[in-house]
Amino acid sequence: MRSGMGNTSVALSDVRKSYGNLQVIHGIDLTVEDGEFVVFVGPSGCGKSTLLRMIAGLEEVTDGEIAIKGRDVTDLDPSDRGIAMVFQSYALYPHMSVRDNLGFGLKMANTPQAEIDRRVAHASDILKIGALLDRRPGQLSGGQRQRVAIGRAIVREPDVFLFDEPLSNLDAELRVSMRIEIARLHRELGNTMIYVTHDQTEAMTLADKIVVLRDGRIEQVGTPRKVYEDPDNVFVAGFIGSPRMNLLQAMKQDEGTIVLSGAKLSGLPADTALATGDELIFGIRPEHIELSTGGTDSFAARVDFAEYLGSTQFLYCTLDDGQSLIVERREGDDIENGAMIQLTAPVGKRRFFRQSGERIR
Ligand code: ADP
Repeated sequence: MRSGMGNTSVALSDVRKSYGNLQVIHGIDLTVEDGEFVVFVGPSGCGKSTLLRMIAGLEEVTDGEIAIKGRDVTDLDPSDRGIAMVFQSYALYPHMSVRDNLGFGLKMANTPQAEIDRRVAHASDILKIGALLDRRPGQLSGGQRQRVAIGRAIVREPDVFLFDEPLSNLDAELRVSMRIEIARLHRELGNTMIYVTHDQTEAMTLADKIVVLRDGRIEQVGTPRKVYEDPDNVFVAGFIGSPRMNLLQAMKQDEGTIVLSGAKLSGLPADTALATGDELIFGIRPEHIELSTGGTDSFAARVDFAEYLGSTQFLYCTLDDGQSLIVERREGDDIENGAMIQLTAPVGKRRFFRQSGERIR
């Protein structure tokens, strides 16, 4: 984490949004620290773009307050908020050169030409687009266009950068390299950045802090490691991580143990609300499952299909009770389709959830 963090950059207090009678954002409280890279992630329709656009001032806030650098901006125009936004669609002017695209906003704001030149040079330096300045957007690749779009945000020297799914239009390989570019940009500039994506890998790799959203509500806020290793609920457990965490129906046996597909497993935390025979959800990540020789604390599975990917092998399995399970193996001999195997997992990696989805800690 950078120095300079610790001051609040963006603060949302009980922010709500309705379209007519339909409420889509249900009271969001969130603080973003100065210099922090925060990613809003969640499935399509969860409200992440709406939330970002409210911070930008492009969408009216129905209720609640938004402050940037301690200043209430809830009713301010986008241009008065100290923000700059980068869109998925680039939104470049097709008839202008890259240089003019970069400088256009500053020119409109009557910035002196020498200052425009300085900022355009600085941005093109950071983004390594100096050789493209005289081209038009139509003469650029998708990745180069997105770089220009980011450059246009940089020249504004905003307090806060807002990114709305900026990499979604790029092919998979370019997405990875632009992701690394954006991480580098954040390191170099040190600005506060808020970034919206539906892609949990982007969220994991870019964020200092991930905000997981569902249906207009925050499900969990935390570092990538926190939301991955210590999810608050079944939704976060299933959304973060690829392949996803195995989430299996099980039953409480007695204090500290469950029954999964007829096998007894330990590790269930004490929970007075849960009685013997109550259903619960057992969560285990594919990479935490180990082959075992059987006996206590293990369960049986049949390998339906083994997928060999070189560095890893995925085993698509079925338990005795019919539930499906994915196992990820980093090493070991190949396992044949149809093999019967015994599995276990370190007790510390086992996760338990109530039927309602809430984590049992
Ligand atoms: P996300 O960015 O997570 O995909 P959005 O913020 O775009 O989600 O949308 C959140 C919810 O608000 C969705 O249910 C969407 O259908 C609804 N919504 C977005 N814009 C409008 C609008 N102009 N009128 C009515 N409903 C809208």
